[in-house]
Amino acid sequence: MSLSQRMQTLTGGGSDGWDVFIKARKMIAAGTAVTELTIGEHDIRTAAPILQDMHRSAMGGHTGYAMVPGTDALRDMVAARTTERTGVPTTRDNVLITPGGQAALFAAHAAACDPGDTALYLDPYYATYPGTIRGVSAVPQAIATRAEDAFQPRAADIAAHAEGARSLLINSPNNPTGTVYSRATLEGIAQVCVDHDLWLISDEVYDTQVWEGAHLSPRALPGMAERTLVIGSMSKSHAMTGSRCGWIIGPEEVIAHLITFATHTTYGVPGFIQDASVFALGQGPAFEAEVAAPFLRRRAIAQRVLGAQNTIGLIPAQGAMYLMLDIRATGMSGDDFANALLDRHHIAVMPGESFGSAAAGHVRVAMTIDDAGFETALRTLAGFAEARARAA
Ligand code: PMP
Repeated sequence: MSLSQRMQTLTGGGSDGWDVFIKARKMIAAGTAVTELTIGEHDIRTAAPILQDMHRSAMGGHTGYAMVPGTDALRDMVAARTTERTGVPTTRDNVLITPGGQAALFAAHAAACDPGDTALYLDPYYATYPGTIRGVSAVPQAIATRAEDAFQPRAADIAAHAEGARSLLINSPNNPTGTVYSRATLEGIAQVCVDHDLWLISDEVYDTQVWEGAHLSPRALPGMAERTLVIGSMSKSHAMTGSRCGWIIGPEEVIAHLITFATHTTYGVPGFIQDASVFALGQGPAFEAEVAAPFLRRRAIAQRVLGAQNTIGLIPAQGAMYLMLDIRATGMSGDDFANALLDRHHIAVMPGESFGSAAAGHVRVAMTIDDAGFETALRTLAGFAEARARAA
């Protein structure tokens, strides 16, 4: 039996970028202690009061099919929070609750693109983006951002690829680069979308992790609410990665179609997870700042440690839970550096190449272990880079 082309070509043929991560996990399974600075998973677990609320809801009977669009309470909560944070009037009819941001990315592309349509995204990119686009039988087209711009996109580069495209996927604060798009960048992007009649899919799952500048949702820019689909999630803001609760915010008529799509794909999100999400969002910005605080602290550690050397360049870490390190002075590729660091020092980082060719010669470090362990690992990484640069 042969599988569909869609399944066979989902990762585009080559590696899906997870090789170093998988190698590290195999080493761990074989009993080697590995410092993992790879995936975007907090080192804290979901807070006990959230789990208690989840338990209360489940024991109270909210274990059957939940409403496919999401519960009224959660949709209202997400809508109110969005109105408050962005100033764009938003009601429950603008909100579909999804099983995580990943399902929202898939549904948004299904809504925007027909088979064969070109879907634009920016390189470096979160590893699932091209596969998600292929998953709806659209054609992923990467547009490189530049290390010399600290990976801040140039509207002109996007415009150069926009002719005939259907959608553009952006992500600020950015995984993997830590870049927060400036107002000027977003205004430029919005103009390209209007000029070329593109859907803008704006992945804002890191919007509570902004260390420099401010998060601006492009849906708030003039003329953009009607063509923007915002991706949100409880995963990063509330340390609820395993709960699989996210959302899409968009025009009412698009959400109505996406509800039909959800009926035929996911059939909604468990009620007890949604109730716990209402509870979690009800804890307000102070709780979100608490979840984000460790990354802000570790970013300061990284600035101190890396500020004392000049082999590694730290891309300004403006947001999210990652650091993008320029290791080109070692003469190594990101892949070679990450593999050698893992072999020699049992520290696992992600090669920049896992996130696209624009991040070649870089590695991404997730700030997801305790402060002391993080500082030690970073010092070892910096020492390793210096030794390699001397040898180069
Ligand atoms: N977008 C980005 C940029 C991410 O980094 C992630 C998860 N790492 C997601 C979306 C998906 O997150 P989730 O499905 O857990 O909401």
